[in-house]
Amino acid sequence: MKTCLAVDIGGTKIAAALVKDNAIVTRVQISTPTSKEASALTVALTDLLTPLALEADHVAVASTGIINHGVLTALNPDNLGGLNHFPLHQVISEITQLPVVVINDAQAAAWFEYKALNQAVSDMAFITVSTGVGAGFVQKEILNTGARGIAGHAGHMLADPNGPVCGCGRKGCVESIASGTAIGVAGQPFFGTDCDGETVYQHLLAGDKNAIAIVDRSASTIANLIADLTISLDLDVVVLGGSVGLASGYLARVKTYLKRLPNVYVPDVIAASSGADAGLLGVALWAEQNIK
Ligand SMILES: [Zn+2]
Repeated sequence: MKTCLAVDIGGTKIAAALVKDNAIVTRVQISTPTSKEASALTVALTDLLTPLALEADHVAVASTGIINHGVLTALNPDNLGGLNHFPLHQVISEITQLPVVVINDAQAAAWFEYKALNQAVSDMAFITVSTGVGAGFVQKEILNTGARGIAGHAGHMLADPNGPVCGCGRKGCVESIASGTAIGVAGQPFFGTDCDGETVYQHLLAGDKNAIAIVDRSASTIANLIADLTISLDLDVVVLGGSVGLASGYLARVKTYLKRLPNVYVPDVIAASSGADAGLLGVALWAEQNIK
């Protein structure tokens, strides 16, 4: 069995792990450089990956953003400290001197969740509700990474034409209403300017009606996203993950809104099985079949 060096690049942290037989044997994590200079990310990746690459046969990278032919671009320029058009595949190939594959992190997590299902499923969507809202689609048992790496960015589908302006520049995206960030912003008039999604959730658990309304708006938006994806992609299962998606009672709220819709819009909805390492393990699994 070959050893994979799996890398997960997020807006706040970068994790790297040696994966063998679908299990993590060594794991290292650093903070994502806050500098907007591309050279800072190159230096950080060099320090992190050089020692691990000595023990690996190939490299599998899951990254936030859009991975278009190995180049990282950002739909929301605020992500990754403004890094845009970073040649991720080329830089990591040069650092490690190994074969490299790169896909989007939500796509990688979707592949992990798909492989973790204990039933035969043809069509599945994974939706992560966290700092942002991301998704990955498995269609006819194949992970859809998209010709330009965009497939799965369902957090930027329209939820409310009169909603807030999203980080991508469009008005009223799902992400601008349903994400943990959006929940925090919606809570600020009630709970103070430093209110974040976690603060709102604590008020919700204490029974605060404003907090309940904010989280319900997020959950109903995600329910409608699930319905839209189900009617367009003929889904068997939707897997819901992320810190908000897995928060206490959130999935039940989503299901409550789904139950109000005709049956054709309602797939099986289940909680994601893995925590923080779905991206690492998912991209390692995907690389097994796709490394050249
Ligand atoms: Zn958007």
